[in-house]
Amino acid sequence: MKKLALHWQILIGMALGVLWGILASSLGLVDFIKSWIQPFGTIFINLLKLIAVPLVLVSLITGVSSLSDVSRLSRIGSKTIGIYLLTTVLAVVLGLLLVNIAEPGKAFSAEKREEFNQQFAATTTQKSTDAAAVEQQGPLQPLVDIVPDNIFGSLTNNGAMLQVIFFALLFGIALIMIPADKAAPVNDFFEGVNLVILKIVDIIMKTAPYGVFALLAGLVVEFAGDDPGSAVELLLVLGYYCLVVIAGLAIMIFIVYPLLAVSVGKTKYKDFFRGIFPAQMLAFSTSSSAATLPVTMECAEKNLGINREITSFVLPLGATINMDGTSLYQAVAAVFIAQAYGIDLDLMAQLGIVMTATLASIGAAAVPGAGTVMLVIVLQQAGIPVEGIALILAPDRILDMCRTTVNVTGDATVSMMVARTEGQLHPPTETARV
Ligand code: ASP
Repeated sequence: MKKLALHWQILIGMALGVLWGILASSLGLVDFIKSWIQPFGTIFINLLKLIAVPLVLVSLITGVSSLSDVSRLSRIGSKTIGIYLLTTVLAVVLGLLLVNIAEPGKAFSAEKREEFNQQFAATTTQKSTDAAAVEQQGPLQPLVDIVPDNIFGSLTNNGAMLQVIFFALLFGIALIMIPADKAAPVNDFFEGVNLVILKIVDIIMKTAPYGVFALLAGLVVEFAGDDPGSAVELLLVLGYYCLVVIAGLAIMIFIVYPLLAVSVGKTKYKDFFRGIFPAQMLAFSTSSSAATLPVTMECAEKNLGINREITSFVLPLGATINMDGTSLYQAVAAVFIAQAYGIDLDLMAQLGIVMTATLASIGAAAVPGAGTVMLVIVLQQAGIPVEGIALILAPDRILDMCRTTVNVTGDATVSMMVARTEGQLHPPTETARV
């Protein structure tokens, strides 16, 4: 019997996880799920995170050093960063357009708005505390944060991916600049390690269907635990807000990226989705571009036919700095909060949002919830009350799942475009597919 492709296995795992979660909540088995099923989801995420930092470090070093000369590196590098920025700005503008047309924040009644104002003041959440820390920083702090004072510290700190990238780029560039005979053994070493890491990814992916089953079952029982109470209006308005975010994300996934992949990448609409699907499923289940990175790389190489020379450079960078879904979400969330507070944002303020949402998405770590914490920067700059974040926390996880899927799809699309312009895109073989 032909073995079911991995992405179907993952999809079935997700569907069964949701069903099992719903069944378990209605049978009162919430504790059972939390004690005996959810931990396997955590183990799966841990495995992915475990491999993410070594993967970024080693694949960027080999990626940069394989570009063999600094001028080629700077050409591919500037092309990559340029396209990343363009797609991010496009996503923010799309988000702003949608939220200005739909005006979800104005759907609150005047009394409700007043009520929320008072509630917000009383709400202190973990995210608001993190947000307060971001608020204290100076304007150049994001730049300072990129340069580590101790690389081993950065390697052990999950949020410090930009620092790891900085070090890997520096290391790779220096490796190109030293004499070839001295560089060769170092290159061989990192290429060997790279192969080992990719093999580990293969092994981890074999467990993915079970991992996503456990993750989704756990998520469902957690959601079901929430009592919506009497806040029907809040739920309706938040539902409307979610719809606006999801509509924007859907336009990115189903229209913008395929258009780019088909026109520049010269692929077929169906092949593009078939190729990236396992990574999308994983992004949706883990809400983390970093955790999904190993699979994004596999899909890009084996299913989309992008040469490793490009994926090993473009994708680790993209997982960290290119978050179109996050930036779109931040734009919609900021304007939604402003509308709920009755603040009118003029054109200048909205242009400011384009800029800060782009920067905030670049600075957001590729982990669950990071985009929400960075939303503070956008709110502050636009003069919107930061406490308003409390309003959008409830549906945040589901939006995080969706925006991470967009983030990952965007990375793969851009790597396809860069590969095409560099002549590094080859039709994949059927047998190599993941
Ligand atoms: N979870 C997102 C990611 O990892 C970041 C965010 O928007 O919170 O891509």
